[in-house]
Amino acid sequence: MDASRDPTGAVPFTTPSGRPFEAGTRGFWKDYPNTSALLAELGIKESDVFTDFTTSAFYSPDGLEATAPVFAGAPLQLPSPLGQVFASFDNFKRLPLSDRASMAGLLLAMLDFDRDEESMAAYDRMTAHELCIRCGLSKRLVDDFVRPTLSVGLFAPLETTSALVALELLYFYAFAHQDSFDVRWIKTRSISELLIAPLAQKLQQQHGLRVLSSARAEGLDMDAAGRVSTVRYTQNGVSDSLSDIDAVVLAVGAKGMRAVVAGSPALAACAPELTAAASLGSLDVVTTRLWLDRRVAAPHPANVLSRFKQLRGAGGTFFMLDQLQGDTDAGMRRLWGVPEADLSTATPTGSVVACDFYNSAAVALLSDQEIVDTLMRDLLPSAVSGFQGAQVLDSYVLRLPGAVSWFSPGSFPSRPPLRGSVPNLVCAGDWVRLGQREHGAKGLCQERAFVTGLEAGNALLRGALPGLSAAAALLHPVLPVRADEPQVLAGKQAAQAAAALARALSMPPSPWVR
Ligand SMILES: Cc1cc2nc3c(=O)[nH]c(=O)nc-3n(C[C@H](O)[C@H](O)[C@H](O)COP(=O)(O)OP(=O)(O)OC[C@H]3O[C@@H](n4cnc5c(N)ncnc54)[C@H](O)[C@@H]3O)c2cc1C
Repeated sequence: MDASRDPTGAVPFTTPSGRPFEAGTRGFWKDYPNTSALLAELGIKESDVFTDFTTSAFYSPDGLEATAPVFAGAPLQLPSPLGQVFASFDNFKRLPLSDRASMAGLLLAMLDFDRDEESMAAYDRMTAHELCIRCGLSKRLVDDFVRPTLSVGLFAPLETTSALVALELLYFYAFAHQDSFDVRWIKTRSISELLIAPLAQKLQQQHGLRVLSSARAEGLDMDAAGRVSTVRYTQNGVSDSLSDIDAVVLAVGAKGMRAVVAGSPALAACAPELTAAASLGSLDVVTTRLWLDRRVAAPHPANVLSRFKQLRGAGGTFFMLDQLQGDTDAGMRRLWGVPEADLSTATPTGSVVACDFYNSAAVALLSDQEIVDTLMRDLLPSAVSGFQGAQVLDSYVLRLPGAVSWFSPGSFPSRPPLRGSVPNLVCAGDWVRLGQREHGAKGLCQERAFVTGLEAGNALLRGALPGLSAAAALLHPVLPVRADEPQVLAGKQAAQAAAALARALSMPPSPWVR
């Protein structure tokens, strides 16, 4: 059951003028092993779905700040973080070396933060901004690099982001291995069509999956044994319910959780972990697509915008879809929504640009036209001069209020656990805490969302469902991310030892938190 119009990806989303649109441009980083395994399971070649790993660029009102190379292509492969330092040596265009060197403090915190539960909770209570100050990062490094990176990685400013999740994210996406930051994109159509649709089809055809689309869960009712017995929902304005249920996987974000728990008084009374999760906030996104009258030769397909006052506090990105998906006539025609059978129509040649604003509550208050004007007048030409004079032939703006998990300071203990107090209810989603089964993929991350879904299914098989024994053959394998490099492991062991020694001497175990 899902509130969206077509959770199976069978019917591609199009704008009112008939052009293809997908909410948000989402990258697939190097360490998404379960996503890769899913494609293999579905018999889909990765090269048919993903672009090659691409470069990206960071722009500010001062111009190009930095580019991110494809690290796997670096001539010299070195242990992390040396590899990243050498491979990106020439990529910072303005930031002085002394500012870059001040990153060292953060690298030390990365060895310390996940020492134990107590230390994770302590880092979580701190804001990412406070962590940068305590770790001695220069103001310029924070403003020019860490802030824009986190604003598009976790969608919120440093001041309202948990230091724990910021460290997890930087570690997973940037520091674990020299090539952790390498990212690729969908090379045609949409994620829904290329990944979700074949998966849904397989589940429908081989496993009897039935999907209720445009169906919004309104509440869960409980039986006398404290198990969920009924799901109440509304589909296209009509109220209905499902009562023949064994178990429920609650795979909603904070906004959905709030709505479901608010409509479930009995559940709220017996599941404090769900009322805590329902009290957490979420972040807004505005996602847009522009169809232009000319091809703009942006040097990089994926781009980050930061520090522009016109962003109104949001993080910004823009993606040159014609570079990612338009390398053939057929690709360009698809981006423009030209029917594939219509061979008589000339192939459109103008760029198609997808622009997203994260933490976008202020941007969302502008009209669609003002948002398009801000992009075409202020933001895009400041980054890439080729946008000057380009005309918008068509555009689409979509507001997604409360669509994204907000890892706010102190939120860790309130995030929903995989299994809580209701025996036949489990949770899935990127914000779910996996406890003993915690995975290396972190943050706002499709791989993490997928892993939590697999773990939710496995948790039900492991014992939440009466009559279903933990049949090992039914459990779906969950692949870990690559192991830490030996020097990182040694560093973590040294941090453990230092903390133990400090404790023995009645000193705080960490210089940064208590
Ligand atoms: C603009 C944008 C860019 C992103 N970029 C990347 C990227 O580059 N790489 C990456 O890996 N990740 C990226 N992400 C993050 C990634 O998309 C999320 O981490 C992932 O989608 C989370 O999945 P989820 O299942 O936890 O939640 P969601 O995908 O939010 O799914 C929740 C579902 O619950 C449904 N729902 C809510 N309430 C109800 C209800 N009451 N009844 C029924 N259904 C309900 C919703 O319709 C929705 O389908 C991006 C996200 C956005 C928005």
